[in-house]
Amino acid sequence: MSSLNLKADDSHRIQVSQLDMPPRLLLGPGPSNFHPRVRQALSANEVGHLDPKFIEVMKETQELLRYVWQTSNPFTIPVSGTGSAAMEATLANCVEPGDVVLVGVNGYFGERLCDMAERYGAEVRRIQKPWGEVFTLNEIGYGLETHRPAILGLVHAETSTGALQPMDGIGKLCREFDTLLLLDTVTSLGGVPVFLDRWHVDMAYSGSQKCLSCPPGIAPLTLGPRALEKLSQRKTKPANWYLDMTLLGKYWGDERTYHHTAPINMNYALREALRIVAEEGLENRWDRHRTNAELLWEGLADLGIDCHVEREHRLASLTTALVPDGIDSKEVASHLLRNYNIDIAAGLGQLAGKVWRIGLMGYNSRPENVVLLLSAMKKALEALD
Ligand SMILES: *Cc1c(COP(=O)(O)O)cnc(C)c1O
Repeated sequence: MSSLNLKADDSHRIQVSQLDMPPRLLLGPGPSNFHPRVRQALSANEVGHLDPKFIEVMKETQELLRYVWQTSNPFTIPVSGTGSAAMEATLANCVEPGDVVLVGVNGYFGERLCDMAERYGAEVRRIQKPWGEVFTLNEIGYGLETHRPAILGLVHAETSTGALQPMDGIGKLCREFDTLLLLDTVTSLGGVPVFLDRWHVDMAYSGSQKCLSCPPGIAPLTLGPRALEKLSQRKTKPANWYLDMTLLGKYWGDERTYHHTAPINMNYALREALRIVAEEGLENRWDRHRTNAELLWEGLADLGIDCHVEREHRLASLTTALVPDGIDSKEVASHLLRNYNIDIAAGLGQLAGKVWRIGLMGYNSRPENVVLLLSAMKKALEALD
């Protein structure tokens, strides 16, 4: 063979400069900034995915996840991927073709649950509320009575709307109807109170890059006994090999069988993020998120900006602030990014053009960030007036 044949095509061999990312303050709907200790944990020595030291890390991470979620579910693991991967894992494993899945849709992520459930063959039914509102226990009871679903999916903290779904009584109702309760806790875990066992939640998932202040790419998942029972009685294999918890459970359980290579260093990062939560204590953490959110709400009111969600159902980790008349929300957001390195987001879906989405999540929920954002917003509004 002539060496000519080994000549690589150089057309994509471009020269790029050394990576130089700006120091953004991430105050949008996620990701949030990582905690400095999480950044450090990421660079700890890499080991193999079956290394005894890594298995220790796995066990510790699982136990810390149980604390943060307030659950004693043995099946509590981090999934490789972002929040959407863990979201898909709940449905891929617990939906069998033909199952009725009822979803509370009052924002963007409820829609995503419907889309995913449908792909696994569910007969999707919805109860709906305008974006920014929550469901009453009666409305949920009526939905269960009407549709008799195998699974009820709810979003605890709707990051697209800033509303927090009250959970009292829902789990008990679900048990009466023999319905599994699936809860999205992506923007609530580690930021606002979550009590999975007390609320009788059967399946839940979260993300690392919101109130846990870890990079995106690893996603907590927990399955309770009723969900595992449904999984064990499936007639067909889950239609997703990567997220099949009967296979992955063998790696996270006693067998330690290889399924796919765990993202080792991301697991270090999550462990450190959870260790920080445990050090602070959940109640202190919830109080801190609440106090800083209230500081933000007061400061916005001083600027003449109202919140979209009524106070009782407002989410501490994500605020939807109403854009004053005549202001272009995207222009303000890009002014903040360009001039102050602050990242906030505009609204989407029903709230496009109407709100800004401001996150105070995890490590970023600090008074100095609130004060900085408020003064930058004041300047932006003056500059663009
Ligand atoms: C961010 C988010 C997700 C999706 O998580 P990704 O990490 O972006 O995949 C799901 N649900 C809610 C409520 C979210 O805020």
